[in-house]
Amino acid sequence: MTAYLVGAGPGARGLLTLRAAELIARADVILYDLLIPADALSGARADAELIYVGKQGGGEQVPQEATNALLLEHARTGKAVVRLKGGDPFVFGRGGEEALVLREAGIAFEVVPGITAGIAAPAYAGLPVTQRHLSSAVAFVTGHTQSGDELDWAALAAFPGTLVFYMGVRSLERIASRLVEGGRSPDEPVAVVERGTLPGQRTTLATLATVSERAAAAGVQAPAVTVVGPVAALPGELAWLEQRALHGVKVAVTRARAQASPLAARLADLGAAVVEAPAIRTRSLEAELPILAGYDLIIVTSPNGAHELFAALARQHRDARALAGHRVAALGPGTARALREHGIIADTVPQRAVAEGMLESLASVPVARALIVRAREGRDVLPDALRERGAEVDVLALYETTAEPLDAATLTATAAADWITFTSASTVRFLAEAAGGALPDGPKLASIGPATSAALRERGHEPDVEADPHTPDGLVTALVNYG
Ligand code: SAH
Repeated sequence: MTAYLVGAGPGARGLLTLRAAELIARADVILYDLLIPADALSGARADAELIYVGKQGGGEQVPQEATNALLLEHARTGKAVVRLKGGDPFVFGRGGEEALVLREAGIAFEVVPGITAGIAAPAYAGLPVTQRHLSSAVAFVTGHTQSGDELDWAALAAFPGTLVFYMGVRSLERIASRLVEGGRSPDEPVAVVERGTLPGQRTTLATLATVSERAAAAGVQAPAVTVVGPVAALPGELAWLEQRALHGVKVAVTRARAQASPLAARLADLGAAVVEAPAIRTRSLEAELPILAGYDLIIVTSPNGAHELFAALARQHRDARALAGHRVAALGPGTARALREHGIIADTVPQRAVAEGMLESLASVPVARALIVRAREGRDVLPDALRERGAEVDVLALYETTAEPLDAATLTATAAADWITFTSASTVRFLAEAAGGALPDGPKLASIGPATSAALRERGHEPDVEADPHTPDGLVTALVNYG
């Protein structure tokens, strides 16, 4: 019987420890707080009991006694109980109090430290809390007025190093004036870091004399940490997160879940807040492959088509050797990459990843019989044009694109995004259908290429940008370059 007091880190994906992830994945019961990272529970078992013990709607905390009682009640049943807290459980997390309660009840416990906000938010703001010649000590201080323990302001003012205040956005003025009264210079640098490590992170730089006014003007809100000391001037030189090209920009990604991650990851690396809104999913049609021998050209039009082709070959106990001797053309670098994963280096990859680009690339290639591997609902531009050139063309639909239902929260987040990215005509159609018939009005619309733009225009929307090249990378570049 062990209870786990676990720190979930300050918010960013990836700043949760391996041990925390392991325990979350194993837990029968998780008691969690408000300020845990948004996706911290995504690794929990589907049948785990998730119990929220943070602030209630009106701002009232679940009383500590009630949390303690819940913790004991579940731990006593012998279940694996994780008490999950933002940051570190022992830094202003009342983890120590809960450990005492467990000890008194004779329940064994383990403490999993987490990356505390007072270290993480400054780090993400480009603010080393210690720095040779500037600060050789750091103190974590609660700025909460109701903490019960009155602070020794004279001692804090005299502290020879960096002060990091948690909470207390509303008491900034009091904190600053007490420190100045205690003898700190009014010119001492101050940095307030809101939503540290998250896409919405914002750093306000000031001095003890100006901080309350600056913070009010900027509309600073919780959660935030306030750093006081000479190092608090360093974000001016060392800020890195907030400088990223898409920092704080909300971007909805409508691709199928299986394909969304590389695009979402690139956007997130540039600082975007990604809303995953997979409006489509692909479904294998499990079609039979025709005899390939007679085709001198095999065209694959999408990464998913490439994977489906090899799945179809595998069903016949065959592999890449079945394509030996055929010219293979890939529509776009992503498709070429997918083919490469299966051992095939495409002979033709057009510069422009559209049907017209493919036709240009094949202009001087003699084609007698072509097989086009694609989705059921693909466009007919390519087969028609090849037929016009005198080729015999077969279209092999190996998968279809269908709607993926989106929940209300995802639709709301999508409508509130700065951008919606569309990577195919079907993402346009199915997002509109999921959203009740029309695309949301607010966000700007980014299209991957002409066919997708045409689908947007058919619904009366002019895309704000169209990617060139017509690839996910091209789409990211278009967002970065937009005004
Ligand atoms: N145990 C937590 C702190 C809990 S107290 C930890 O170790 O981080 C809650 C306070 O932490 C907030 O009021 C705020 O001051 C700070 N905090 C938590 N997450 C934060 C974040 N992402 N950015 C800035 N401050 C944060």
